[in-house]
Amino acid sequence: MTASQRFASRVLIKDASLRTKMLDIAAGLQDVIALGRGDPDLDTPPHIIEAGQKALGAGATHYTHPLGMPELRQAIAASIRSNGGADYAADEIVVTAGAQESMFVAMLALVEPGDEVIIPSPGYNSYHQAVELAGGRCVTVPTFERDGFALTAAAVAAKLTPQSRMLCLINPSNPTGMVIPPSEIEKLAALAVERDLIVISDEIYGRLVYDNARVQPVAALPGMKERTITIDGFSKAYAMTGWRVGYFAAPRHFVKPMAEIHHGLAICAPAVSQHAALAAVSGPQDCVEAARREYDARRQVMMKALDRMGLSYAKPNGAFYVYANVSSTGATASDFCLRLLQEGKVMMFPGSLFGDHCDDYVRISLLQPVARVEEAARRMEAVVRSMKNAAKTPQPA
Ligand code: PLP
Repeated sequence: MTASQRFASRVLIKDASLRTKMLDIAAGLQDVIALGRGDPDLDTPPHIIEAGQKALGAGATHYTHPLGMPELRQAIAASIRSNGGADYAADEIVVTAGAQESMFVAMLALVEPGDEVIIPSPGYNSYHQAVELAGGRCVTVPTFERDGFALTAAAVAAKLTPQSRMLCLINPSNPTGMVIPPSEIEKLAALAVERDLIVISDEIYGRLVYDNARVQPVAALPGMKERTITIDGFSKAYAMTGWRVGYFAAPRHFVKPMAEIHHGLAICAPAVSQHAALAAVSGPQDCVEAARREYDARRQVMMKALDRMGLSYAKPNGAFYVYANVSSTGATASDFCLRLLQEGKVMMFPGSLFGDHCDDYVRISLLQPVARVEEAARRMEAVVRSMKNAAKTPQPA
C-alpha cells in the first residue's frame, strides 16, 4: 500500500463518493430542489446580523480569550440553566468554531487508541470520522423504524465491553429526527454511571422539537455533569451555519485537556461570530419559535406526501429531517436517490451516508419553503409511482 493509499483509507466516510457523484450530477441540472444538506434556508435573524456588523465596526477583528468571550460564556451558561440544563460556571463553557469543532476536540482529547465509542446507527457521520481520527473504534448500535428509531439503554448495554469508554447521544437525531424519550435518557444515564462511561450529548437540535416532545439535558441528571460533555451551537436554531460558532459545556477536568486541543486547532472561535452568538443567546427568542413552526409546517407537508406515496417512516419529533423507507420501490436507497435526482430533479441523500446499517432509507431535509417542499413531494411521487409500477410489471422470461 502506498502512503497516499494508506492516507485515503484512514478516515473513511462510507459512500462519500456517492455524495460527490450526486453533487456533480446536480451541477449539470437546472431547477434541482435541494433537500440534502443540513443547512437552514432561513436567514440569520436581522438583530444577530446587526450585532455582527456592529462588532466588526468596533474592531472585533482580533483573537478573543481562547475559551471564548467571557460575556458570551456567561450568557450561554445562563441559557443552559434556563432551559433546564446543568449549572455551569463560565469556565466550564468553551466556544468553538461550530459544534463540529467541539465534537473533534472531544474525541481527540478524550479517546485513546483502542477505546470503544458507542454511536447510534444511523447517526451523524462526523462522529465516526472524529472517533477514527482519534484512534478509537466506533461501535454502532442499530436503531429501527419499528421502534421510532429510539436508542435504548438495553441496546447500548448489549454492545458494552471492557474497552467501552464513551457513549454518544445525538438528541434529537440527525438523520432520523428522533427525540430520545426522557425516561430512556434516565436509563442511559444510569448505565453510563454503572459502566463508568463518558457521555457526549449532542443537543444541537434541542430547540427544534414537535408534538410536545422534550429533550432531557443529560448533564442535568444526578451524577451526570461530571461525566458529560454537552455539545450545542447556533447553526440550527438561529440559522447561523456560516458563522461557524458553537460550544461545549463540560466539567473542568474535561475542559482542561479539551481546551488545549481547541487552542491548537482554532486558537479561538471567530470574534465577529461570538458577538453575533451573544446577540442570539441573550436577545429575543421568538425567532427560534418562528423557525420551529416553519419546519413543523414543512414536516406535516412531507409526512402527508409520504403517506400518499405509500412510503413508511417513523414520525420525527425533532430536528428538520424525515427519514423515509424507500425499499418498497424495489431499489436501494442509494439507487433511489440517484434516480430521483436524474428523473425528478430532487436531491436527498441515502442513510448510508449517515452510517446506516441498511440501504433502505433516505434523509429528507426540510430546508426549503413549504411551496418547494410541496413541489419536491410531487416530483418524488411521480418517480416513486413509476418505480413501483415497473417493479410490479412482470419481466419477459
Ligand atoms: N451535530 C449534529 C448532530 C449535526 O447535525 C451538525 C450539523 O449538521 C453538527 C453537529 C455541526 O454543527 P455546526 O454547524 O455547529 O458545526
